[in-house]
Amino acid sequence: MKFEVISTNLEGVRVDSLIIQFFEGAEVPEAVVTLPESIKEEIEPSIGTGGFKAKLGQVLPVYPKSADAIRCFLLLGLGSRKDFSLEAVRQAHGYAAIRAKEIGSKSITVPIFSIPPYTAPEITASVVEAINLAFYRFDRYKSKVEDGKYPELVRLVADPDVRNMCDAAANEAAIVSEAVKLARDLTNMPSSDIPPKKMAEIATEVGMVSGFSTKVLEAEVLERMGMGGIVNVGKGSSNPPVLIIMKYDGGGDTYVVVGKGVVFDSGGISLKPSEKMEEMKYDKAGAAAVIALMKAVAELKLPVRLIGIVPAVENLPSSNALKPGDIIRFRNGKTAEIISTDAEGRLILADALAYASEMRPKVIVDLATLTGACVIALGTHASGLFSNNDELAEALIKAGEKTGERLWRLPLWKDYFEQIKSDVADMKNVGGRAAGAITAAAFLMNFVEGNIPWAHIDIAGTAWTQESSPEKSYIPKGATGVGVRLLVEFLKSEIKRVKPYPSDANT
Ligand SMILES: [Zn+2]
Repeated sequence: MKFEVISTNLEGVRVDSLIIQFFEGAEVPEAVVTLPESIKEEIEPSIGTGGFKAKLGQVLPVYPKSADAIRCFLLLGLGSRKDFSLEAVRQAHGYAAIRAKEIGSKSITVPIFSIPPYTAPEITASVVEAINLAFYRFDRYKSKVEDGKYPELVRLVADPDVRNMCDAAANEAAIVSEAVKLARDLTNMPSSDIPPKKMAEIATEVGMVSGFSTKVLEAEVLERMGMGGIVNVGKGSSNPPVLIIMKYDGGGDTYVVVGKGVVFDSGGISLKPSEKMEEMKYDKAGAAAVIALMKAVAELKLPVRLIGIVPAVENLPSSNALKPGDIIRFRNGKTAEIISTDAEGRLILADALAYASEMRPKVIVDLATLTGACVIALGTHASGLFSNNDELAEALIKAGEKTGERLWRLPLWKDYFEQIKSDVADMKNVGGRAAGAITAAAFLMNFVEGNIPWAHIDIAGTAWTQESSPEKSYIPKGATGVGVRLLVEFLKSEIKRVKPYPSDANT
């Protein structure tokens, strides 16, 4: 699909579907752009009493009687003006795109507007993301795809004075949404087709095309490096674990992003119930998002140094597998008593975070489908956020609001660390049912060294669509690719950051 930004009169546009956006109104919906008289006449009968109320995501096709240039007007509801947000833009335009495809449009035209505080380039980016992501399908395993043809061209009509900025925004949004699709693909892939080594190969290939370097550490090396978490979790599977280290150098400060890459989580010896166990292929969503983030940041050529670290393992029971009662030692010398082998994510992240700390970056962020407890706490409407730094947490929350990938912060008070005290080791890997998402984060915090600003994002409720997931036009069933757009936005905000993080002085 091609996105093109043009400046033209809407009347002169030759296109299959022309989207016309409206706000809900007390009497009749109100168009967001000034429409030429000829178009007004064509669509007027459908508005208000004609059935079109401009509710968020409502799409009504109207076929003009006269004009032959435009095959169809798609009246599109943005909802009420007071609730307007970039998320409303994404939701609405995703539905419009799906409708345009249903009626067989090969080309779509979208008028670009600006509604303070949102600028035309921001609206452009949201429209491009929504359309690109609404058409995502994971159908590579289907021998016959019966989904019909997708539109080939999307024209965005912007005012001449902002056209160049909108053009740049459209290009960036196309890069970011392609990266989100990669994250969805890697997460959706069955574990048998993406064991740890294969994931490393894919990361290496993506890096060669997009412009970042990849180093892969295999099990023997990890053992020598004292990474007992990754080695022990991975030893139950005949597919050995690896640590993938990706580096992009755009100059500037160093950021490390860590992603949990459990390609399949059976629970290990602490075997999970079989119901919905197939969903445990999604336990690599954090890793997928980090690989995709590397791709996006390298292609956008952001002026940062970004290091992506992915511990990739398969958690299976076998006679070699890690057992409850075992005590293991991590990269930073700390030990943990294993209570449940199903709490394996924190064990592999522990080594990765200790290793990341050695690089003394400005910030460490980790993304992990870590705990079912996080889904109990927040449902599927927000990812859990945990941080040792208020300003970092604030910056991430802001990025989440802008991208519609909401974060909700949970506390990390000292009291919670009591729950993971062990009689025989430095800590245990489970702190009981109470506050399970927080005690998991507390476990991780033991491995962030030197007061480095760190944030842990638990995406167990947001990484794939579940029963209670909100319906989003641009998120079809399966993996969502959560975290990619969020962290691109975060890194962009970091480039503009003037104030250093308070704990920088200590590191
Ligand atoms: Zn597990």
